[in-house]
Amino acid sequence: MSRDTSVAVSVEIGGERTTVALIDQQGRVRHRCHAKTLRGRPATATLEPYLRSIDTMLVFAREQGWPVQGIGMSLPGSLEQTTRRPLTVSLLPSLNNFPLQDLLESRYHLPAHLNSDVDAAMLGEQCFGAGRGFRRLLFLTVSAVVGAAFVVDGQFERSTQYVGHVCHLSVTASGPRCSCGKRGCINTLVSTDALQKMVQRAVRRGDETSLTRRLLNREYFSPQLLAEEAARGDSVSLQIYGEVGRWLGAAVNKYVDLFEPHVLILGGGGVLYAADLVLSQVRSTLGGQSSARVCSMVEVVPACLGRDAALVGAAVPLL
Ligand SMILES: [Zn+2]
Repeated sequence: MSRDTSVAVSVEIGGERTTVALIDQQGRVRHRCHAKTLRGRPATATLEPYLRSIDTMLVFAREQGWPVQGIGMSLPGSLEQTTRRPLTVSLLPSLNNFPLQDLLESRYHLPAHLNSDVDAAMLGEQCFGAGRGFRRLLFLTVSAVVGAAFVVDGQFERSTQYVGHVCHLSVTASGPRCSCGKRGCINTLVSTDALQKMVQRAVRRGDETSLTRRLLNREYFSPQLLAEEAARGDSVSLQIYGEVGRWLGAAVNKYVDLFEPHVLILGGGGVLYAADLVLSQVRSTLGGQSSARVCSMVEVVPACLGRDAALVGAAVPLL
């Protein structure tokens, strides 16, 4: 029997740029290219670079002799599944309510599937990453925004406010004030933006450590820089990760009590540059607060697919 060489095209729309790739049956990225994310344009102009990149991928697949099973897309927002349209994509509002899935299917004569970025990353981890073999999976992603997805026996739970982009999930009654007017929303406590604000406060306080010296020497803040300093034992960086880990632990605790998952996967490009530090803090917070029964049921693990989780996952419904 010949090996299955079929692939799916995957499009991951991101804030800075969009990645278009061919994903094979084992969840591997076989070929990839990038397209510009154009903001503030009408839908047709926004989609034009993505469609050109899809054309390129289809030509490449044909040259390789790989049958293409369909086109999957990951969008940074929410979707209306029944109308097959994006609902709210705050980055690219011209796509809101645009008949995107129909356009892809009629242009390419292939099945298409739209996913929110959080659900796509969950699908990637569930099929090819840290979620393999578990029945009840909870996925939390922490980067510029915080997202959550929950799957039982392969089915997404969507009928709750605790999944999707959950930036305003309340974690504490105190904490910094959020853009929504409340205090203690999760995005103000653990997002990339929250990390940066904690660092800025340390600089303003006049804390003198390796991290603050680098920033005063005009290096730019990034989660990688913070993680690098924490690995070298920088006291401000360690203190920030301790705080973030405790808040994330409190949020995780809420989720574990609510969903009783068998595995909790933490992903995203923010705090997880220092995954070991943050995960150990989350595990110890969880041990202290959750009921012993729930705590013994759940494994807390980092995502396996890294930055490719949503790219790989967007193709899963078509493979
Ligand atoms: Zn808020």
